[in-house]
Amino acid sequence: MRRVPFSFELHPARSPQIARQLPDRIARLVAAGPEFVSVTYGAGGSSQDASLDVLKHVIEHHPQVRTMAHLTCVGSTVQAAHDTVRTFMDAGVHSFLAVRGDLPAGSPPDAFPGDIRSAAELVQLIHAVQSERRPWREVAIPGTPGIMLDRDGRERIAIAVAAFPNGHPSSRSWQQDIDTLLAKQAAGANLGISQMIFHADDYFRMVDAARAAGVEFPILPAITPVTTPAGLARNLELSGERAPEAFAAALAAEQNEARRREIGVDFAADLTRRLLDGGAPGIHLYTRNMHEVPLAVLARVGLIDEARFAQLIAPDFTGATPVE
Ligand code: FAD
Repeated sequence: MRRVPFSFELHPARSPQIARQLPDRIARLVAAGPEFVSVTYGAGGSSQDASLDVLKHVIEHHPQVRTMAHLTCVGSTVQAAHDTVRTFMDAGVHSFLAVRGDLPAGSPPDAFPGDIRSAAELVQLIHAVQSERRPWREVAIPGTPGIMLDRDGRERIAIAVAAFPNGHPSSRSWQQDIDTLLAKQAAGANLGISQMIFHADDYFRMVDAARAAGVEFPILPAITPVTTPAGLARNLELSGERAPEAFAAALAAEQNEARRREIGVDFAADLTRRLLDGGAPGIHLYTRNMHEVPLAVLARVGLIDEARFAQLIAPDFTGATPVE
């Protein structure tokens, strides 16, 4: 079996029905053995309590897995952001994905509401709060570069940031995107997570440019496995990424739901393989709070074995920990 770190992105539940299903889905995903699970955060703090509830659930029921809280800073005062970071750390979260968040619709492109104008500034603030609580030092843990442990080796802090293989939509140039990554590194970020990727070459081009400019932290490529034409269209619109034409055509031409699902899993697995074979340090899967398709992608790539996959998706799954 291939051994490469993988991780999952979750969202706060958007309906009571999903909220009821989420613990079971999280248990299945965690039992696959991810490096960490991240939980998204609504820009402006709109989902703060809901995000924290998901994180607390994982911390309480699955203490073996590291949690990563996405945090945004757009529209926030320094004091409010400080209090939020502290609240999350007090709840037991020690890894963050610091993103700026999108400006409210209709805002002028150069408007920066709030005190914290960029993700890099939020990274600095997270480090500052961490230092107030407990001074940290960087240690090398084989396979997980840049992970932070506190003086007693107990707490870990990783601060991830967003990276955009095709540039951020508001960026004036490719160079500005690379400069932004350098600023995030200078602020103390130690991991990058990419915007969702549909073409492996886009990721490698960005990583090569970032390395050439001096960005040293690992950058995880992220994939959203999609299995319907509508899902693909929605994700392309959200990310602004260019369509994978042959995959889009194959999905659109297939009317059978099960075969369409296979096309989606095949595409995501093939992309994951290309990324890992080309040297990506791991893979981050946007789950959209589903378990079956992301787990099928991992099984197809050989990151979990087929027997374990069958257990993880079985109706009578009991939440057992992964078999070594
Ligand atoms: P920044 O890096 O601060 O800035 C983005 C771009 O703006 C830069 O690339 C640069 O071109 C430009 N820029 C930055 N600073 C300046 C400056 N001083 N002057 C001029 N231009 C500047 N959003 C959410 O709301 N919640 C989430 O949970 C969430 N999770 C995400 C996870 C990932 C992996 C990714 C890739 C994105 C996520 N986002 C999330 C979306 C993110 O908030 C938006 O893409 C946002 O527009 C940019 O965030 P950033 O952290 O890249 O911002």
